[in-house]
Amino acid sequence: PIDINNLADEYLRLAYHGLRANDKSFNATLLTDFDSNLGKVSVVPQDMGRVLLNLFTNAFYATEEKRKTGLANYQPTVQVITRRIDGETIELRVRDNGCGIPASVLNKIYQPFFTTKPTGQGTGLGLSLSYDIITKGHGGELVVETEEGKFTEFTIRLPT
Ligand code: ADP
Ligand code: MG
Repeated sequence: PIDINNLADEYLRLAYHGLRANDKSFNATLLTDFDSNLGKVSVVPQDMGRVLLNLFTNAFYATEEKRKTGLANYQPTVQVITRRIDGETIELRVRDNGCGIPASVLNKIYQPFFTTKPTGQGTGLGLSLSYDIITKGHGGELVVETEEGKFTEFTIRLPT
């Protein structure tokens, strides 16, 4: 049994500081809203860590994409929310106010090796692996909501 709030907090900071170490101009506001009654969940920490690291890295990347369009007063923000839904389910949401996912791309994001990133910047394996880890590995769900140019939110639902 793992404290998902702790795990998410650790990996959020890891992703953020990793990106900043590579690029001093990278910046983003991190917002966390952790449910103190989340309770522990049986997960494989390394696997869940990989999922979180990929979701957070994707989210930061999306804010960079949007920042590059030169929008005035844009404040890149990544938000992580955890909630206990009921006795059987918890939810973790990763929301960014980045570039969003166009409809033409949305139906491909879980395909292995699908990436819109330049060569060397993405393997396209993150979400396909994450999908398998969450669904097959943990009996959970991974769903996405997005609006092009506005936001993307990935929700992980896990049985407790
Ligand atoms: P990679 O990060 O290596 O490209 P992923 O499987 O993690 O591979 O993601 C696949 C694609 O899904 C990305 O290249 C990008 O086009 C899209 N994507 C994933 N997360 C986001 C996000 N938060 N905002 C916008 N696009 C995203
Ligand atoms: Mg990725």
